[in-house]
Amino acid sequence: MTVNLAYLLCRTLFLACLLGGVQVSAEVLIDNVNIVPVRSDEGARTARAVLVRDGLIQRIAAAGEISAGESTTVIDGSGQYLMPGLIEMHAHIPVAKQGDDQLVRDTLFLFVSQGVTTIRGMIGDPYHLRLRNDVNREQLMAPRIITSSPSLNGRTVRTEKSAIRLVKLYKQKGYDFLKIHPGISLPVMEALVKTAREQGMAFSGHVPADVGIKRALAYGYGTIDHLDGFVTGIADGDVNAKQGGFFGMRYAGKANRDKLAELVSAAAASGVAVVPTQTLFTRWAGTESAEELASNVEMRYMPRSTIKQWRKRKQQLEDDPLFSMSQSRRLLELRNDVLIALANAGVPILLGSDAPQVFNVPGFSALHELEAMVDAGMSNTAVLAAATIHPATYLATLAGQDQPQYGRIEPGQVADLLLLRSNPGDDISNIRSLQGVMLRGQWINSEHIERKLSEIAGRNR
Ligand SMILES: [Zn+2]
Repeated sequence: MTVNLAYLLCRTLFLACLLGGVQVSAEVLIDNVNIVPVRSDEGARTARAVLVRDGLIQRIAAAGEISAGESTTVIDGSGQYLMPGLIEMHAHIPVAKQGDDQLVRDTLFLFVSQGVTTIRGMIGDPYHLRLRNDVNREQLMAPRIITSSPSLNGRTVRTEKSAIRLVKLYKQKGYDFLKIHPGISLPVMEALVKTAREQGMAFSGHVPADVGIKRALAYGYGTIDHLDGFVTGIADGDVNAKQGGFFGMRYAGKANRDKLAELVSAAAASGVAVVPTQTLFTRWAGTESAEELASNVEMRYMPRSTIKQWRKRKQQLEDDPLFSMSQSRRLLELRNDVLIALANAGVPILLGSDAPQVFNVPGFSALHELEAMVDAGMSNTAVLAAATIHPATYLATLAGQDQPQYGRIEPGQVADLLLLRSNPGDDISNIRSLQGVMLRGQWINSEHIERKLSEIAGRNR
């Protein structure tokens, strides 16, 4: 019997089984563990016992205070750290081709392997609706999926009529929200937003050039992704966002600080959350060469054809007349300033890395993104919030719930947990010291993760 099939059986029958490193059991006790705060107002909780039953955190007590039943799996957390699973808010999920879903399964496992327990897919497809249901029914060892509609952009929505039709269609099909890409004209966007509001459908993503960031904030975007809307929105002089180049690079040296302050207050007042995708920028436009990036260990988990395509895309950017390394550096500094200004104003900043895109490998790129946020000047705790409680709160609102169901370590929460050897509150890179992942109550240890990763590498050799 394959591990997948056995996993499915154990889960459906609530059996306690150990399947090559995956503990499928109704009750797990993690004893004597330190709980990592993910909010500045949350105190450290040391030497705790955390009891998980039927996928939920049942009880938290002092170490040794909860006694294990006969069928309880006990994990010794001594000297280790427990935090909520990571929530990746800008992911791309592949689509199975001719019934072959190996790449899809591998991609989903890559997320899990690095501690990502929820993903928001940013280019939806009917296939993802089925995938989301499979995960919800626990038929797949994969992060929880929230999926956007297919892309709404200048090519897919050219008229007001088509905007109205597509918004209604995507709502009816059951997508969680609408994905906005560049190129949508202002009248079409107005029709789209009006219909989305009527239908109670959230919309998120890029800010089309004709719309501009100020209008986007007034429209009530759920999340604004990538920061380029802010870069062009605060530039002085004649600005043509359509001609701004990669992430608004043309305007990197034109930022007006007064405009930034004004825009940041507007963002804070609008209730928007921001997904900066710093690692997409730094890997695509940063100083590391394609050669260096392609030799990163994690690249072994991607198909060779993908790496080839990533090299090409990086080269294309470097060949762009608007691109120079000094301009790229200037833009990164500006992006960091914008990010910190938004965070300081209380705008929720959310983890999102845009994997798999240009040397960002699913899961691994989330860790780069957390480090990039720290490099920008955010505190470790603020970054941990951006990876857990902030996106969980956002997604709860999206789902019409008043409280997040995951993203915190509290009784009643879904047990999406990471066990770490070292404290990421001391150094964000300690997020890499993963000992195991609890995915909706199922414990996956590091041996199982390593074995699955080498299988994936083997398929891509
Ligand atoms: Zn994207």
